[in-house]
Amino acid sequence: MSKYFKQCTGQLSKTCSIMGNADGDDKPFCLSYNEIKILNFPKRIIEVSIPVKMDSGDLQVFTGYRIQHNDIRGPFKGGIRYHPKVNLDEINAMAFTMTIKCAVANIPYGGAKGGITVDPKKLSQEELERLTRGYTRAIADFIGPDKDIPAPDVYTNPQIMAWIMDEYSRIEGKNTPSAVTGKPLEIWGSQGRSTATAQGGFYVLESLLKKVKLNKKAITIAVQGFGNAGMNFAEIAHTAGHKIVAVSDSKGGIYNPHGLDIKKVIEYKKTTGSVIDFREAENITNEKLLELPVNVLTPAALENEITIRNAGRIKANIILELANCPTTIEAGEKLYKKGIIIAPDVLANAGGVIVSYFEWVQNVRHFYWDKKKVNDRLKTQIIKAFNEVWNNTNRHNVNMRTAAYMLAIEKLGKALKIRGI
Ligand code: GLU
Repeated sequence: MSKYFKQCTGQLSKTCSIMGNADGDDKPFCLSYNEIKILNFPKRIIEVSIPVKMDSGDLQVFTGYRIQHNDIRGPFKGGIRYHPKVNLDEINAMAFTMTIKCAVANIPYGGAKGGITVDPKKLSQEELERLTRGYTRAIADFIGPDKDIPAPDVYTNPQIMAWIMDEYSRIEGKNTPSAVTGKPLEIWGSQGRSTATAQGGFYVLESLLKKVKLNKKAITIAVQGFGNAGMNFAEIAHTAGHKIVAVSDSKGGIYNPHGLDIKKVIEYKKTTGSVIDFREAENITNEKLLELPVNVLTPAALENEITIRNAGRIKANIILELANCPTTIEAGEKLYKKGIIIAPDVLANAGGVIVSYFEWVQNVRHFYWDKKKVNDRLKTQIIKAFNEVWNNTNRHNVNMRTAAYMLAIEKLGKALKIRGI
Protein backbone atom coordinates (compact mmCIF):
# COMPACT_ATOMS: atom_id res chain seq x y z
CA MET A 1 0.00 0.00 0.00
CA SER A 2 2.69 2.44 0.92
CA LYS A 3 5.40 0.89 -1.23
CA TYR A 4 5.75 3.85 -3.49
CA PHE A 5 5.72 6.43 -0.70
CA LYS A 6 8.42 4.43 1.11
CA GLN A 7 10.58 4.53 -2.00
CA CYS A 8 10.50 8.35 -1.88
CA THR A 9 11.16 8.60 1.82
CA GLY A 10 14.03 6.11 1.35
CA GLN A 11 15.78 8.88 -0.54
CA LEU A 12 15.28 11.09 2.52
CA SER A 13 17.07 8.74 4.93
CA LYS A 14 19.82 8.10 2.40
CA THR A 15 20.42 11.81 1.92
CA CYS A 16 20.43 12.48 5.66
CA SER A 17 23.06 9.83 6.23
CA ILE A 18 25.30 11.36 3.52
CA MET A 19 24.79 14.82 5.05
CA GLY A 20 25.55 13.46 8.51
CA ASN A 21 28.83 12.00 7.30
CA ALA A 22 30.15 15.13 5.57
CA ASP A 23 33.11 16.77 7.33
CA GLY A 24 34.09 20.27 8.48
CA ASP A 25 33.11 23.13 6.23
CA ASP A 26 31.57 20.68 3.83
CA LYS A 27 29.11 19.53 6.43
CA PRO A 28 25.77 21.01 5.44
CA PHE A 29 23.39 22.08 8.14
CA CYS A 30 21.27 19.09 8.96
CA LEU A 31 19.03 17.93 11.68
CA SER A 32 19.64 14.31 12.47
CA TYR A 33 17.51 11.87 10.58
CA ASN A 34 15.66 11.27 13.80
CA GLU A 35 14.78 14.95 14.07
CA ILE A 36 13.63 15.25 10.48
CA LYS A 37 11.76 11.99 10.31
CA ILE A 38 8.49 13.90 10.57
CA LEU A 39 8.84 14.15 6.78
CA ASN A 40 8.22 10.41 6.61
CA PHE A 41 4.61 11.10 7.47
CA PRO A 42 1.99 13.20 5.70
CA LYS A 43 0.42 15.76 7.99
CA ARG A 44 -3.12 15.05 6.79
CA ILE A 45 -4.78 12.51 4.51
CA ILE A 46 -8.19 13.42 3.15
CA GLU A 47 -10.17 10.78 1.30
CA VAL A 48 -13.60 11.70 -0.01
CA SER A 49 -16.48 10.07 -1.87
CA ILE A 50 -17.92 12.22 -4.63
CA PRO A 51 -21.40 11.32 -5.87
CA VAL A 52 -21.98 12.52 -9.43
CA LYS A 53 -25.19 12.45 -11.42
CA MET A 54 -24.11 11.12 -14.82
CA ASP A 55 -25.71 12.29 -18.09
CA SER A 56 -27.50 8.95 -18.28
CA GLY A 57 -29.31 9.72 -15.02
CA ASP A 58 -27.28 7.11 -13.09
CA LEU A 59 -25.45 8.05 -9.95
CA GLN A 60 -21.77 7.22 -9.84
CA VAL A 61 -19.58 7.63 -6.76
CA PHE A 62 -15.93 8.54 -7.31
CA THR A 63 -13.06 8.46 -4.81
CA GLY A 64 -10.92 11.56 -4.39
CA TYR A 65 -7.88 12.40 -2.29
CA ARG A 66 -6.01 15.40 -1.02
CA ILE A 67 -2.88 14.64 0.91
CA GLN A 68 -1.18 17.48 2.75
CA HIS A 69 2.35 16.38 3.38
CA ASN A 70 4.10 19.25 5.12
CA ASP A 71 3.59 23.00 5.62
CA ILE A 72 6.62 23.98 7.64
CA ARG A 73 7.79 26.39 4.89
CA GLY A 74 4.38 27.73 3.89
CA PRO A 75 0.88 26.68 2.82
CA PHE A 76 0.49 23.26 1.22
CA LYS A 77 0.83 23.38 -2.56
CA GLY A 78 0.42 20.87 -5.34
CA GLY A 79 -1.59 19.67 -8.29
CA ILE A 80 -4.68 17.57 -8.71
CA ARG A 81 -4.68 14.65 -11.12
CA TYR A 82 -7.57 12.81 -12.72
CA HIS A 83 -6.48 9.34 -13.75
CA PRO A 84 -7.86 5.79 -13.51
CA LYS A 85 -4.75 4.66 -11.61
CA VAL A 86 -4.90 7.36 -8.91
CA ASN A 87 -4.52 5.78 -5.47
CA LEU A 88 -3.56 6.79 -1.95
CA ASP A 89 0.03 5.58 -2.15
CA GLU A 90 0.68 7.44 -5.40
CA ILE A 91 -0.81 10.71 -4.13
CA ASN A 92 1.11 10.37 -0.88
CA ALA A 93 4.41 9.98 -2.73
CA MET A 94 3.57 12.94 -4.97
CA ALA A 95 2.67 15.14 -1.97
CA PHE A 96 6.03 14.32 -0.41
CA THR A 97 7.75 15.19 -3.69
CA MET A 98 6.02 18.59 -3.70
CA THR A 99 7.44 19.43 -0.24
CA ILE A 100 10.93 18.72 -1.56
CA LYS A 101 10.29 20.52 -4.86
CA CYS A 102 9.04 23.74 -3.26
CA ALA A 103 12.07 23.78 -0.98
CA VAL A 104 14.48 23.18 -3.89
CA ALA A 105 12.80 25.96 -5.88
CA ASN A 106 12.88 28.16 -2.78
CA ILE A 107 9.24 29.18 -2.92
CA PRO A 108 7.31 29.71 0.31
CA TYR A 109 5.15 26.60 0.20
CA GLY A 110 4.93 23.13 1.60
CA GLY A 111 3.75 20.11 -0.34
CA ALA A 112 0.42 18.48 -1.15
CA LYS A 113 -1.21 16.49 -3.93
CA GLY A 114 -4.74 15.56 -4.85
CA GLY A 115 -6.46 13.28 -7.27
CA ILE A 116 -9.58 11.49 -8.32
CA THR A 117 -9.64 7.90 -9.55
CA VAL A 118 -11.37 8.48 -12.87
CA ASP A 119 -10.74 8.31 -16.60
CA PRO A 120 -11.69 11.88 -17.54
CA LYS A 121 -11.65 11.00 -21.24
CA LYS A 122 -14.78 8.94 -20.64
CA LEU A 123 -16.75 11.83 -19.09
CA SER A 124 -18.71 14.58 -20.85
CA GLN A 125 -17.79 18.21 -20.04
CA GLU A 126 -20.90 18.47 -17.87
CA GLU A 127 -20.00 15.33 -15.92
CA LEU A 128 -16.45 16.58 -15.50
CA GLU A 129 -17.74 19.88 -14.17
CA ARG A 130 -20.09 18.20 -11.68
CA LEU A 131 -17.27 15.90 -10.54
CA THR A 132 -14.88 18.84 -10.07
CA ARG A 133 -17.40 20.94 -8.16
CA GLY A 134 -18.29 17.93 -5.97
CA TYR A 135 -14.61 17.32 -5.20
CA THR A 136 -14.10 21.01 -4.38
CA ARG A 137 -17.04 21.00 -1.96
CA ALA A 138 -15.68 17.85 -0.32
CA ILE A 139 -12.24 19.34 0.37
CA ALA A 140 -13.26 23.02 0.73
CA ASP A 141 -12.68 23.10 4.49
CA PHE A 142 -9.08 22.10 4.04
CA ILE A 143 -7.98 24.32 1.13
CA GLY A 144 -7.67 28.09 0.69
CA PRO A 145 -5.12 30.78 -0.23
CA ASP A 146 -3.19 30.48 3.04
CA LYS A 147 -3.89 26.82 3.71
CA ASP A 148 -3.54 24.67 0.62
CA ILE A 149 -3.53 25.82 -3.00
CA PRO A 150 -4.34 23.23 -5.71
CA ALA A 151 -3.16 23.40 -9.33
CA PRO A 152 -3.26 21.30 -12.53
CA ASP A 153 -1.51 17.97 -12.89
CA VAL A 154 -2.02 14.88 -15.08
CA TYR A 155 -5.24 15.22 -17.15
CA THR A 156 -6.45 18.36 -15.40
CA ASN A 157 -6.37 21.79 -17.05
CA PRO A 158 -7.18 25.51 -16.67
CA GLN A 159 -10.92 24.91 -17.18
CA ILE A 160 -10.96 22.48 -14.26
CA MET A 161 -9.06 25.03 -12.15
CA ALA A 162 -11.69 27.63 -13.12
CA TRP A 163 -14.48 25.39 -11.78
CA ILE A 164 -12.53 24.83 -8.55
CA MET A 165 -12.01 28.58 -8.16
CA ASP A 166 -15.67 29.29 -8.87
CA GLU A 167 -17.03 26.64 -6.50
CA TYR A 168 -14.64 27.66 -3.74
CA SER A 169 -15.55 31.34 -4.22
CA ARG A 170 -19.27 30.50 -3.95
CA ILE A 171 -18.64 28.66 -0.68
CA GLU A 172 -16.59 31.58 0.68
CA GLY A 173 -19.09 34.12 -0.57
CA LYS A 174 -16.39 36.17 -2.31
CA ASN A 175 -14.12 35.94 -5.31
CA THR A 176 -11.05 34.03 -4.19
CA PRO A 177 -8.75 33.57 -7.18
CA SER A 178 -5.69 32.88 -5.00
CA ALA A 179 -7.30 29.62 -3.80
CA VAL A 180 -6.07 27.77 -6.89
CA THR A 181 -3.42 28.32 -9.60
CA GLY A 182 -3.20 27.34 -13.25
CA LYS A 183 -6.42 29.23 -14.00
CA PRO A 184 -7.33 30.57 -17.45
CA LEU A 185 -5.98 34.06 -18.19
CA GLU A 186 -9.52 35.47 -18.37
CA ILE A 187 -10.08 34.80 -14.69
CA TRP A 188 -6.80 35.84 -13.09
CA GLY A 189 -4.46 33.15 -14.36
CA SER A 190 -0.84 34.09 -15.02
CA GLN A 191 0.88 34.68 -18.30
CA GLY A 192 3.31 31.86 -18.95
CA ARG A 193 1.69 29.36 -16.54
CA SER A 194 0.56 26.93 -19.24
CA THR A 195 4.09 26.59 -20.63
CA ALA A 196 5.91 27.00 -17.31
CA THR A 197 6.81 23.36 -16.62
CA ALA A 198 8.27 22.98 -20.09
CA GLN A 199 9.96 26.37 -20.07
CA GLY A 200 11.53 25.73 -16.66
CA GLY A 201 12.70 22.30 -17.84
CA PHE A 202 14.28 23.91 -20.85
CA TYR A 203 16.20 26.42 -18.69
CA VAL A 204 17.47 23.52 -16.57
CA LEU A 205 18.53 21.63 -19.68
CA GLU A 206 20.38 24.65 -21.11
CA SER A 207 22.25 25.12 -17.84
CA LEU A 208 23.11 21.43 -17.66
CA LEU A 209 24.33 21.26 -21.25
CA LYS A 210 26.85 24.00 -20.46
CA LYS A 211 28.14 22.09 -17.44
CA VAL A 212 28.51 18.73 -19.16
CA LYS A 213 30.04 20.24 -22.30
CA LEU A 214 27.42 18.66 -24.49
CA ASN A 215 26.91 22.10 -25.84
CA LYS A 216 26.37 21.06 -29.43
CA LYS A 217 24.25 23.37 -31.52
CA ALA A 218 21.63 20.72 -32.02
CA ILE A 219 21.24 17.85 -29.62
CA THR A 220 18.88 14.93 -30.16
CA ILE A 221 15.91 14.58 -27.83
CA ALA A 222 13.20 11.97 -27.25
CA VAL A 223 10.08 13.04 -25.34
CA GLN A 224 7.84 10.48 -23.68
CA GLY A 225 4.38 11.99 -23.10
CA PHE A 226 2.75 14.63 -25.26
CA GLY A 227 0.55 16.42 -22.73
CA ASN A 228 1.07 19.94 -21.42
CA ALA A 229 4.67 19.42 -20.30
CA GLY A 230 5.93 17.13 -23.08
CA MET A 231 4.30 18.91 -25.99
CA ASN A 232 5.34 22.40 -24.91
CA PHE A 233 8.85 21.20 -24.13
CA ALA A 234 9.17 19.60 -27.57
CA GLU A 235 8.03 22.84 -29.17
CA ILE A 236 10.36 25.06 -27.10
CA ALA A 237 13.39 22.80 -27.70
CA HIS A 238 12.58 22.48 -31.41
CA THR A 239 12.25 26.26 -31.76
CA ALA A 240 15.63 26.63 -30.02
CA GLY A 241 17.16 24.51 -32.79
CA HIS A 242 17.38 21.06 -31.20
CA LYS A 243 16.35 17.89 -32.96
CA ILE A 244 13.32 16.15 -31.48
CA VAL A 245 13.65 12.66 -32.94
CA ALA A 246 10.84 10.92 -31.08
CA VAL A 247 7.67 11.71 -29.16
CA SER A 248 4.90 9.56 -27.74
CA ASP A 249 1.52 9.66 -26.04
CA SER A 250 -0.57 7.03 -24.26
CA LYS A 251 -1.35 5.33 -27.60
CA GLY A 252 2.29 4.94 -28.73
CA GLY A 253 5.23 6.82 -30.21
CA ILE A 254 6.80 8.04 -33.44
CA TYR A 255 10.46 8.19 -34.43
CA ASN A 256 12.41 9.94 -37.14
CA PRO A 257 16.21 9.97 -36.62
CA HIS A 258 16.46 13.09 -38.80
CA GLY A 259 14.13 15.04 -36.54
CA LEU A 260 10.38 15.69 -36.40
CA ASP A 261 8.63 18.85 -37.48
CA ILE A 262 7.03 19.44 -34.07
CA LYS A 263 4.55 22.07 -35.20
CA LYS A 264 3.18 19.58 -37.73
CA VAL A 265 3.06 16.83 -35.08
CA ILE A 266 1.07 19.11 -32.77
CA GLU A 267 -1.40 19.90 -35.55
CA TYR A 268 -1.61 16.20 -36.38
CA LYS A 269 -2.33 15.25 -32.76
CA LYS A 270 -5.02 17.93 -32.55
CA THR A 271 -6.87 16.44 -35.50
CA THR A 272 -6.38 12.71 -34.88
CA GLY A 273 -6.13 12.58 -31.09
CA SER A 274 -2.70 10.90 -31.11
CA VAL A 275 0.79 11.21 -32.57
CA ILE A 276 0.80 7.65 -33.94
CA ASP A 277 0.78 7.05 -37.72
CA PHE A 278 2.28 10.50 -38.35
CA ARG A 279 3.42 10.22 -41.97
CA GLU A 280 6.98 11.52 -41.64
CA ALA A 281 8.02 9.00 -38.98
CA GLU A 282 7.86 5.33 -38.04
CA ASN A 283 5.67 4.12 -35.20
CA ILE A 284 7.47 2.86 -32.11
CA THR A 285 6.33 1.71 -28.70
CA ASN A 286 6.69 3.79 -25.57
CA GLU A 287 9.21 1.25 -24.26
CA LYS A 288 11.34 1.53 -27.38
CA LEU A 289 11.32 5.32 -27.17
CA LEU A 290 12.98 5.17 -23.76
CA GLU A 291 15.82 3.11 -25.19
CA LEU A 292 16.66 5.25 -28.23
CA PRO A 293 20.24 6.48 -28.81
CA VAL A 294 19.64 10.17 -28.05
CA ASN A 295 21.45 12.88 -26.10
CA VAL A 296 18.46 13.72 -23.95
CA LEU A 297 15.55 11.56 -22.85
CA THR A 298 12.63 13.51 -21.44
CA PRO A 299 10.06 11.42 -19.58
CA ALA A 300 7.01 13.68 -19.37
CA ALA A 301 4.21 11.22 -18.62
CA LEU A 302 3.72 9.17 -15.47
CA GLU A 303 5.82 7.78 -12.64
CA ASN A 304 7.92 4.60 -12.62
CA GLU A 305 8.65 4.44 -16.36
CA ILE A 306 12.38 3.89 -15.94
CA THR A 307 12.92 0.98 -13.60
CA ILE A 308 15.59 -1.59 -12.88
CA ARG A 309 14.08 -3.67 -15.72
CA ASN A 310 14.88 -1.21 -18.52
CA ALA A 311 17.61 0.97 -16.97
CA GLY A 312 20.36 -1.18 -18.51
CA ARG A 313 19.05 -0.42 -22.00
CA ILE A 314 18.86 3.37 -21.67
CA LYS A 315 21.33 5.04 -24.02
CA ALA A 316 20.70 8.75 -23.43
CA ASN A 317 23.42 10.96 -21.93
CA ILE A 318 20.92 12.98 -19.91
CA ILE A 319 17.47 12.26 -18.50
CA LEU A 320 15.41 15.38 -17.93
CA GLU A 321 12.53 14.43 -15.63
CA LEU A 322 9.56 16.56 -16.64
CA ALA A 323 7.20 13.98 -15.12
CA ASN A 324 7.06 13.41 -11.37
CA CYS A 325 9.06 10.38 -10.23
CA PRO A 326 9.51 8.77 -13.69
CA THR A 327 12.70 7.00 -12.55
CA THR A 328 12.77 4.66 -9.58
CA ILE A 329 15.49 5.40 -7.02
CA GLU A 330 17.10 2.02 -7.74
CA ALA A 331 17.16 2.62 -11.50
CA GLY A 332 18.55 6.11 -10.90
CA GLU A 333 21.50 4.70 -8.95
CA LYS A 334 22.22 2.24 -11.73
CA LEU A 335 22.11 4.97 -14.38
CA TYR A 336 24.37 7.22 -12.30
CA LYS A 337 26.97 4.45 -12.17
CA LYS A 338 26.72 4.19 -15.97
CA GLY A 339 27.52 7.92 -16.20
CA ILE A 340 24.01 9.00 -17.20
CA ILE A 341 23.01 12.31 -15.64
CA ILE A 342 19.48 12.65 -14.31
CA ALA A 343 18.11 16.15 -13.86
CA PRO A 344 15.61 15.16 -11.13
CA ASP A 345 11.91 16.01 -11.17
CA VAL A 346 12.13 18.19 -8.05
CA LEU A 347 14.31 20.56 -10.07
CA ALA A 348 13.55 19.83 -13.74
CA ASN A 349 9.77 20.23 -13.54
CA ALA A 350 9.70 22.91 -10.82
CA GLY A 351 8.86 25.60 -13.41
CA GLY A 352 5.16 24.75 -13.06
CA VAL A 353 4.94 25.37 -9.35
CA ILE A 354 7.28 28.38 -9.55
CA VAL A 355 4.90 30.13 -11.94
CA SER A 356 1.98 28.94 -9.80
CA TYR A 357 3.64 30.90 -7.01
CA PHE A 358 3.88 33.94 -9.30
CA GLU A 359 0.19 33.54 -10.16
CA TRP A 360 -0.72 33.44 -6.45
CA VAL A 361 1.40 36.54 -5.77
CA GLN A 362 -0.34 38.39 -8.61
CA ASN A 363 -3.77 37.31 -7.32
CA VAL A 364 -3.01 38.41 -3.78
CA ARG A 365 -1.67 41.77 -5.04
CA HIS A 366 -4.29 42.22 -7.81
CA PHE A 367 -1.44 43.33 -10.02
CA TYR A 368 -0.58 41.46 -13.20
CA TRP A 369 2.72 40.96 -15.03
CA ASP A 370 3.42 40.47 -18.72
CA LYS A 371 4.81 37.24 -20.11
CA LYS A 372 8.36 38.53 -20.33
CA LYS A 373 8.41 39.42 -16.67
CA VAL A 374 7.04 36.00 -15.72
CA ASN A 375 9.56 34.13 -17.86
CA ASP A 376 12.50 36.30 -16.73
CA ARG A 377 11.63 35.66 -13.10
CA LEU A 378 11.13 31.96 -13.76
CA LYS A 379 14.54 31.80 -15.41
CA THR A 380 16.27 33.54 -12.51
CA GLN A 381 14.55 31.38 -9.90
CA ILE A 382 15.12 28.02 -11.57
CA ILE A 383 18.71 28.70 -12.63
CA LYS A 384 19.54 29.69 -9.06
CA ALA A 385 18.10 26.36 -7.88
CA PHE A 386 20.02 24.55 -10.62
CA ASN A 387 23.31 26.15 -9.56
CA GLU A 388 22.74 25.29 -5.92
CA VAL A 389 21.99 21.68 -6.81
CA TRP A 390 24.97 21.49 -9.16
CA ASN A 391 27.32 22.87 -6.49
CA ASN A 392 26.10 20.20 -4.09
CA THR A 393 26.81 17.44 -6.64
CA ASN A 394 30.43 18.57 -6.89
CA ARG A 395 30.97 19.34 -3.23
CA HIS A 396 29.59 16.07 -1.98
CA ASN A 397 30.21 13.86 -4.98
CA VAL A 398 26.60 12.76 -5.24
CA ASN A 399 24.09 12.53 -8.07
CA MET A 400 21.77 15.45 -8.81
CA ARG A 401 18.77 13.89 -7.05
CA THR A 402 20.66 13.48 -3.81
CA ALA A 403 22.13 16.98 -4.25
CA ALA A 404 18.62 18.43 -4.66
CA TYR A 405 17.38 16.54 -1.60
CA MET A 406 20.34 17.91 0.36
CA LEU A 407 19.31 21.42 -0.56
CA ALA A 408 15.69 20.77 0.39
CA ILE A 409 16.49 19.00 3.65
CA GLU A 410 18.76 21.83 4.69
CA LYS A 411 15.97 24.39 4.16
CA LEU A 412 13.27 22.24 5.74
CA GLY A 413 15.54 21.33 8.64
CA LYS A 414 16.32 24.97 9.40
CA ALA A 415 12.64 25.94 9.33
CA LEU A 416 11.77 22.99 11.52
CA LYS A 417 14.48 23.83 14.02
CA ILE A 418 13.48 27.50 14.26
CA ARG A 419 9.75 26.86 14.45
CA GLY A 420 9.93 23.82 16.67
CA ILE A 421 7.82 20.74 16.25
N1 GLU B 1 1.37 19.61 -10.81
C1 GLU B 1 2.55 20.42 -10.90
C2 GLU B 1 3.70 19.74 -10.18
O1 GLU B 1 3.68 18.56 -9.95
C3 GLU B 1 2.31 21.84 -10.48
C4 GLU B 1 1.92 22.02 -9.05
C5 GLU B 1 1.51 23.46 -8.70
O2 GLU B 1 1.62 24.33 -9.54
O3 GLU B 1 1.11 23.64 -7.56
O4 GLU B 1 4.69 20.35 -9.89
